[in-house]
Amino acid sequence: MRHFVKIAVCLLPLVVLVACFNKSSDHSRQEHEVTALSYDIERAVKEENVVPVVIVGSGPSGLSASLYVARAGMKSFVFAGPMPCGQLTQTTFIENWPGRERVLGLELMNDIKVQAQSFGATIIHDIVTDIDFKAWPFTLKTEEGRTFKAMSVILATGATPRGLGVPGESEYWGKGVTTCAVCDARFFKDKEVVIAGGGDSAAEMVFELAPYVKKVTMLVRKGSMRAALAMQTKVHAFSNAAIEYHKEITHIYGNGESVVAIDVYDNETKTTEKRPMDGVFLAIGHDPNNKMLHGSLALDEHGYVVMNGRTQETSVKGVFAAGELQDPSYRQAIVAAGEGVKAALDAASFLYEIGFNVDVGMKLEQNFFEHFSDVKLELKEIFEVDELYKHVLNAKGIVVLDFYAPTCPCCIRMLPYLEAVAHKLAGNVTIIKTNYAVVKKTIYRELGTNHDIFVKKLPSLLVFRDGKLLDINTEVMNKAEIYNYLQQFLK
Ligand code: NDP
Repeated sequence: MRHFVKIAVCLLPLVVLVACFNKSSDHSRQEHEVTALSYDIERAVKEENVVPVVIVGSGPSGLSASLYVARAGMKSFVFAGPMPCGQLTQTTFIENWPGRERVLGLELMNDIKVQAQSFGATIIHDIVTDIDFKAWPFTLKTEEGRTFKAMSVILATGATPRGLGVPGESEYWGKGVTTCAVCDARFFKDKEVVIAGGGDSAAEMVFELAPYVKKVTMLVRKGSMRAALAMQTKVHAFSNAAIEYHKEITHIYGNGESVVAIDVYDNETKTTEKRPMDGVFLAIGHDPNNKMLHGSLALDEHGYVVMNGRTQETSVKGVFAAGELQDPSYRQAIVAAGEGVKAALDAASFLYEIGFNVDVGMKLEQNFFEHFSDVKLELKEIFEVDELYKHVLNAKGIVVLDFYAPTCPCCIRMLPYLEAVAHKLAGNVTIIKTNYAVVKKTIYRELGTNHDIFVKKLPSLLVFRDGKLLDINTEVMNKAEIYNYLQQFLK
């Protein structure tokens, strides 16, 4: 018996080790075959426009990677993508970033960006749409029609919030259906809203919505929530917040302008109830942003990029991935940042392995890229009613008035795009910005009371021709989408 206890004690660390290994070796962390191409650095050096590292995506993983690549003395270009600085810009306060007790997501990301840029990372406001991993150096194409070549690529494109796929959802997207509580909470003052989902994101939405709305109800499809206990406790602290279990939204109804009701299905009693409702906030998880890969890398059954063992290496040598694109389990910004660092170190090792050195780096820079021009025009900002008349209502031609707020992540995301489009359409379109938080009692009130123009959501683009309102657009658009949208008014 004593002998058995001894064996058991000896085996215990092994059992724990195996258990730990089983947890960490999830489906995206298996050893797999890595395709090696021909990496002839002498030939690559003679080509034009080849950079050592291209990073696709600018969330915590992409920017942390760029910081480490830059510190390793290698030139990196970061493609900001459709959501510059990533999903953290959509949240309010972060309280679990080591060393920062409480920091705004937007502020934290801006700090990381500035730090990366100070070491020499270049950030480009464009979206990578295609990547060819069949030949090396790898070729990347962007939404703006540019082509780039890279010796190594770090994919950090993250994940996109999911939709429910129920009738009415797409029709009322931006008209009461949304995934961004921090952007839209203020427009639901004294109204009733629901949140679909029972994870940390859903709980966080309660914190953002409860101070504004009359009532917020979390509809959780199971009998329990996924949110951390600390988050659940905070939800219970709001007197106007409720949680209902076994409930699913099956239909969203509207009046053409905005959401007015929803069907709620109780999957225990198998009954459906129609409820009057003003807003539907979705927090039901994310899908990895892998479209631009077109199946060129090994993905798991849910579309996450498969990693090679404990590295950030993908199934193609020289291509690395970090963050939510390859992480279905942990999904924390700090983990994504750590993976970005690992990807950068892996990319640097790969480059040194194929013969990269200071000399090669300098030769590449001599042949560098078609100019990465991200030309922008700083937007004029207006504050007072007389400026509204002078620059918008009494102005000739097409004028776009952008209602934004510094605390609205979607608005901040669109600003560089608006500046780029303002430059591109200079002479044909004038884009002006106005800060909703500052002009509530001036410009906003004047438009409502004397012109029947009501801004109900941020961001809102108000398009005027010769002072007459043509359209109000509340979509969150990227550069190409804003450009295409404005083209229709130029005909
Ligand atoms: P999760 O995947 O954790 O939760 C998604 C929730 O949506 C679950 O309750 C899930 O239900 C539900 N759901 C999924 N699909 C549907 C559907 N079709 N209809 C109804 N409900 C649905 O996603 P989160 O975005 O909440 O969190 C992602 C990660 O980010 C987590 O790791 C989380 O910890 C982290 N996070 C951390 C925060 C913080 O620390 N401050 C804040 C926000 C996120 P079911 O359980 O039945 O599958």
